[in-house]
Amino acid sequence: MANLRKREDARSTKAFAEAKQVIPGGVNSPVRAFKSVGLTPLFMERGLGSRVFDIDGNEFIDYIGSWGPLIVGHSHPEVVEAIKKTAESGTSFGAPTELETEMARLVIERIPSIELVRMVNSGTEATMSALRLARGYTKRSKILKFEGCYHGHADALLIKAGSGVATLGLPDSPGVPDSVAANTITVPYNDIDSVRLAFERYGEEIAAIIVEPIAGNMGVVPPQPGFLQGLRNITSQYGSLLIFDEVMTGFRVGLNSAQGLYGITPDLTCLGKVIGGGLPVGAYGGKREIMELIAPSGPIYQAGTLSGNPLAMAAGFVTLSLLGKPGVYEELERKSARLEEGFLANARELGIASTINRVGSMICPFFTDQRVTNYETAKTTDLQLFNRYFAALLDNGVSVAPSQFEGMFVSTAHSDEDIAATIDAHYKALKQ
Ligand code: PMP
Repeated sequence: MANLRKREDARSTKAFAEAKQVIPGGVNSPVRAFKSVGLTPLFMERGLGSRVFDIDGNEFIDYIGSWGPLIVGHSHPEVVEAIKKTAESGTSFGAPTELETEMARLVIERIPSIELVRMVNSGTEATMSALRLARGYTKRSKILKFEGCYHGHADALLIKAGSGVATLGLPDSPGVPDSVAANTITVPYNDIDSVRLAFERYGEEIAAIIVEPIAGNMGVVPPQPGFLQGLRNITSQYGSLLIFDEVMTGFRVGLNSAQGLYGITPDLTCLGKVIGGGLPVGAYGGKREIMELIAPSGPIYQAGTLSGNPLAMAAGFVTLSLLGKPGVYEELERKSARLEEGFLANARELGIASTINRVGSMICPFFTDQRVTNYETAKTTDLQLFNRYFAALLDNGVSVAPSQFEGMFVSTAHSDEDIAATIDAHYKALKQ
């Protein structure tokens, strides 16, 4: 059982104060600061399997998994071994390596809509580059995105975004020029009528729709039946591209990602998180005809000093290989379903309004009795209650994202005992 001793935070508190002297807000990515939940962030010392250990000696069953990448758990021995072995031969060359081709082949094999793939260093780079490509290909300027979807922090995508932007209540970031924002159309998620209206008005100017095929940055919000197919139909009709941002869902919800799960073929796909196995990676890929417009085969420029980095390729390749073993996603589904059932039973027993959204190993309990199908309904959750629940969960040895607008990620390292202990901690947290 995790966290037998009382949770200490003296060292984390000191470390945070020191970090704030030299790093904006003390962190290198906003949601880590625990600002919205009003607590001191945990400074981590190590992770192993399903567990993380902070510098105060607390142990947690972890469902952040580095915000999604660690689908095989922390410090998986085969991933660590691959990184070590690769590093011994050099950490970066800025020249092609055979590993990059192997990695590209594996991605293409698993995601049939991808015929060519370019590696980058983050999800943000992937979506930003995919947008440039879509605009270059269609020779159009506007894009359409959905309220509460997060696609990284490129200017054009930082409009009514989810994730930390939603958590901190900063819907439109200063620093994004109006001229850029004017080219981004936003409509509610799962609302195909609004998409159709936007296209009736601006259709000939819209280069692409970018969408999280399962939204994971306003909590977890699955696509309603017909929504993704509707997007496919409308973009095809107007000669716009359909971009699936699978940075979070790619290889998370199945071997063929969300597009395999729902049977929809996008023109371009963005990847990240899982494909890096915990190292910094992103990727974008799609139809050959479109991808060949990228330099050096075409005129649309995109580059990266560390892109296709050997360590990242090695970690990602091993992670994808581990996921390719038979029964992996079935096991993730079984354990995640158990977690969902346990959470629902707890809430019912304690009479707490709870809506739980889940697709495979992405799961999100909201504190509302409404169905959550878009950002508006996600916001009906009781945020005060979430903050208290979050703190109580930590005290009971379970670490989840410090935000209602993020999901939990189950990994292959979570054991049945971990799941049972988590359901127990959830019960105690709700009771508290
Ligand atoms: N797209 C989606 C769907 C994401 O969830 C994220 C990150 N949470 C990004 C893009 C941006 O990725 P990164 O943080 O690696 O830049």
